[in-house]
Amino acid sequence: MADKKGGVSAASRERWEELVDAINAARTAYYQHERPTISDKEYDTLYRELEELERAHPELASGESPTQTVGGQRSEMFEPVQHLVRLYSLDNAFDEEELAAWFDRIQRSLGLIPRLLCEVKIDGLAVDLVYRDGVLVSVATRGDGVTGEDITYNAQFIEAIPERLTAKKPPALLEVRGEVFLSTANFNAVNDEQMAAGSTPFANPRNAASGTIRQRMDKRVEELAAARTASGTRAEARVERLEREYALAVGRLSALGFTAHGVGAREGIDVASQSEVYSLLDTMGIPVSSRMAVHDSVEGVREYVAYYSEHRHDVEHEIDGVVIKVDDFALQSELGETSRAPRWAIAYKYPPEVVRTRLLDIAVNVGRTGRVTPFAVMDPVLVAGSTVSMATLHNQYEVERKGVLIGDMVFLRKAGDVIPEVIGPVVEARTGDERPFVMPTTCPECGTKLKPEKEGDKDIRCPNAVSCPAQLRERLFHVASRGALDIEGLGYKAAVALLDCGVVQNMGDLFLINAESLLTCPFFTREAGKGEEGPQLTENAKTMLANLELAKVKPLWRMLVALSIRHVGPTAAQALAREFGSIEAIASADLDRLAEVEGVGQVIAEAVVEWFDQQWHREIIDKWQRGGVRLVDEVPDEGTLESQTLAGVTLVITGSIPGYTRDAASAAATARGAKVAGSVSKKTSALVAGESSGSKLDKAESLGVPIIPAQSFDVLLEQGLDAVLKG
Ligand SMILES: [Zn+2]
Repeated sequence: MADKKGGVSAASRERWEELVDAINAARTAYYQHERPTISDKEYDTLYRELEELERAHPELASGESPTQTVGGQRSEMFEPVQHLVRLYSLDNAFDEEELAAWFDRIQRSLGLIPRLLCEVKIDGLAVDLVYRDGVLVSVATRGDGVTGEDITYNAQFIEAIPERLTAKKPPALLEVRGEVFLSTANFNAVNDEQMAAGSTPFANPRNAASGTIRQRMDKRVEELAAARTASGTRAEARVERLEREYALAVGRLSALGFTAHGVGAREGIDVASQSEVYSLLDTMGIPVSSRMAVHDSVEGVREYVAYYSEHRHDVEHEIDGVVIKVDDFALQSELGETSRAPRWAIAYKYPPEVVRTRLLDIAVNVGRTGRVTPFAVMDPVLVAGSTVSMATLHNQYEVERKGVLIGDMVFLRKAGDVIPEVIGPVVEARTGDERPFVMPTTCPECGTKLKPEKEGDKDIRCPNAVSCPAQLRERLFHVASRGALDIEGLGYKAAVALLDCGVVQNMGDLFLINAESLLTCPFFTREAGKGEEGPQLTENAKTMLANLELAKVKPLWRMLVALSIRHVGPTAAQALAREFGSIEAIASADLDRLAEVEGVGQVIAEAVVEWFDQQWHREIIDKWQRGGVRLVDEVPDEGTLESQTLAGVTLVITGSIPGYTRDAASAAATARGAKVAGSVSKKTSALVAGESSGSKLDKAESLGVPIIPAQSFDVLLEQGLDAVLKG
């Protein structure tokens, strides 16, 4: 086999092949099986011999040689690497106006709006890959754009970065730019590990990706190899520990994703646009984003930006914005670069969702079902467009899991309209003055000993349901909430006043309130004005009385929600109301009968039976009935369960609708004959817009589609579209 070729002796070629085989085998053992077969010293000796042989016979140094592939420069971890072509950073636009200004600049320079490529901006770490003859020879961090750090050694553990391009005739040179990142699922898993180990969780996936890629994997391998050759009683334990750490590090690296977002230096390929580059990279096995889109108009780009603003969290990895690029390379060159950034691209940034703030205290809240919930009290901080000073911590185990101490600096996340969440502590910022949270053992409001409902429950409760002031207050307040009977005038302070003044003993008395009883409570009265005698009811008190009247005839399911029966939310309440039609029928149904109702099931059925078993609960029902509350639904027309008030109507529902989950709202509309669509178009009859409606609202406005506020949703269901539009 060893033919003499170009002056290389058969013996040299044979030795070269031996060396290549031995080194490649050792590397496979290192990287893929995580078990070195030879010592580092032996490896280095072989490697140096190979290098010398290739220096003497450069024609031997083919693509097969380890010197030509990844991992060749093992000792150069984090050494500076000059990028072949500079990586620019991008200018940012933080709002629509700044984006419009960029469109204007492009139009002024080119005299037209060119084809624009949009892609999501991955919250990761920018890297630069160099392929020569289709083989990955170097991976570096972005650095300052001119010089980065060598991470070739670590990059080979990243499965998403191919070591070879899948091309019959690969280009002589290809510099690929892209983002190394963690998926949201992997990011959460990494942070769980961090917290389990008592370390600071990563604030965002970018930091996590950076931390992961910046480990000294080469040192780990060296350490492990040294430990393996050592002897003694503790050597074995050390090897075991190092192996475990190594496996964890390899696991983390291999979990990193990669998506290309550009090319730098290239030889042997001919492409005219950014989108063409992506297609080409795709055929060569380099991951590109499936979310990329090319638009011919400013409107198309704006829709793309709005879509991902609303669907930011539907993407499998974090995004912090959208990048817009002029697609055509010739036009890119025409626009050129400033000293910092290309004029042909811009990053539209969404507001940050993770901030740091001080955890001032952890307090506990007693809920309407007695559940005792710790919550974080923080220095108020602006995050995702709103000021946050409190966040639930769910239960004591969650506090322990997050490892937060009172006084800690913490990372706080608020994603869109999702409730704020404490991620974890900044361990490095501790001063030693922090103290752990201690879960109370007695109710802070009534002193009753707290206990879990069932053994093994994570939640603990105040069992004093009948007279715990916190529970009485929370339940009363809940009756008036928008998801239940929506009683204007009965806010939190009014609920407190009603109980404090003894106007009500519990929510059973709510519908027995009248002007006379309210006059005994200063919260509801004002001093007499001219021509009046004695204290008068405030406007708020009058509003409350009027709204209590209105509440008496609300649908049965809302009454069920208002009663604070465990596990009975709007969906279950609607199922029960539909099936039984009256509170009496529900109270007299047995467990099996309740459990077989679709949307109810065993757990809810048990909670319902348990609730009606309590004599004092029955008294609440009696009092409500005496107060004139209708606890029966009108019997629907025979034949159809729901009258088809919305036949022929196409609705789009967005934002939160009080009293409904998104699914429940869709189901309620569909049951009345409506077609519910996912996006607004000219065919949309109306948009039902709840709180935090996003781009759909803008779309509806621009198309002239009528917009129905969420509060009118019940009227829409009951009386149809015309009633709402005319009203
Ligand atoms: Zn209590």
